[in-house]
Amino acid sequence: MTPDLVLAIGMALGSMRQGTVAVGRDSRTSGPALISAIKAGLMATGCDVVDCGILPTPALQYIVRNHFDAGAVITASHNPPEYNGVKVIEADGTEMDDHEAVLLEKRIFSRSFSLKNWEAVGTEKSAPLLVDEYVSSIADRFPGLPGKGMTVAVDTGSGAACSTTPAILSRLGCRVLSLNAQPDGRFPGRLPEPSTEGLSALATLVTETGAAFGIAHDGDADRAVFIDETGQYLEENKEFALIADMVCTGKQGVIVTPVSTSFLIEKIARRHGCSVNYTPVGSIYVARRMMALISAKEKVVFGGEGNGGLIFPDHQFCRDGGMTAAMMVLLLAGTGKSLSELVRALPPSVMIKEKVHTSRAQEMIQALKKAYDAYPCTTIDGIRVTKGSSWALVRPSGTEPFVRVMVETESENDTKQFYSEIRRIIDPFIATE
Ligand code: MG
Repeated sequence: MTPDLVLAIGMALGSMRQGTVAVGRDSRTSGPALISAIKAGLMATGCDVVDCGILPTPALQYIVRNHFDAGAVITASHNPPEYNGVKVIEADGTEMDDHEAVLLEKRIFSRSFSLKNWEAVGTEKSAPLLVDEYVSSIADRFPGLPGKGMTVAVDTGSGAACSTTPAILSRLGCRVLSLNAQPDGRFPGRLPEPSTEGLSALATLVTETGAAFGIAHDGDADRAVFIDETGQYLEENKEFALIADMVCTGKQGVIVTPVSTSFLIEKIARRHGCSVNYTPVGSIYVARRMMALISAKEKVVFGGEGNGGLIFPDHQFCRDGGMTAAMMVLLLAGTGKSLSELVRALPPSVMIKEKVHTSRAQEMIQALKKAYDAYPCTTIDGIRVTKGSSWALVRPSGTEPFVRVMVETESENDTKQFYSEIRRIIDPFIATE
């Protein structure tokens, strides 16, 4: 990701969208150079630019939807420090869809930009305080200080959430203890991906201070993950299930999620008379499906992925880590139970997730189709086989020569057994080197 390429992205976007474009970035060291490049490209093609500084992707999405004609975030999300990228945001606050992204790429490769003359080039404004609107938009949804008396430990990972999540939790009445709370593109405390290993300091902070839970984000804070009060990492499908249980209470409608999500969501949905609508893997497909169902007059109550990326349709149509943090406070305040107790009360689930190298994914899928022709299968993304309450997914990567294999059943034994059954079918197509 070079300034040249980002300049071209800016010129392409400015040629496709007119008006005022909000830009922002995460805390990476290459952020200042790259945001300058995108601003240059946008202004050269006649767009006015508003620079919102360092903020989470969902914060910029919220701000764009309320005030601007488009947006761009310089971020590489959960990826290591040396990466960077551009997320393009549409006027409605959603990420640019595949069709528009292809048109944007075509402009970049053919260098078809509508550069403006001196009278029509754009201007730049700085708006570092606009992020407060996002903080308030979440905090104002939770009146009455639901977090009063609750201690929460927050690891913002030196990323984009430094200016948002601690503030949101404080406004909910929580006593907030923070870790890695200064934006720093060298990520001295932990990597942007919130992994079990990376969050060991957060787990210690939680257990040593008696915090109700710990929360951490990825680099651009569209995802949130949790540590329970005993220091245990909460698997993200379980996080999704617990929050779904609260969100769906008293509502009947649809939960939208990719085919890679745990059956816990299906079980929770059924408990509340809700149904599940499956999409290909990718938050953009979830967000767009939610909007399409709503346009078709369906009632959509919730959406999300089993990686801590949850979408609250009353708030906005994108994954939102700050909103997820606030919802966890509400959940614990409402039930009066500890997080580990709530997790233990979930239906049993044992999952295996593997990545296997192959360039013969399509042959694997055909073999699975044949082997399981007596069982319900969907090919929304790869192939998902359902056997009673158990399921398995074999899904090719869009960009690299491997497939992801996932299996979930209600017990350790059944999961191992189902997994080896799947492996017996796909192993002949695995690369051996
Ligand atoms: Mg992210």
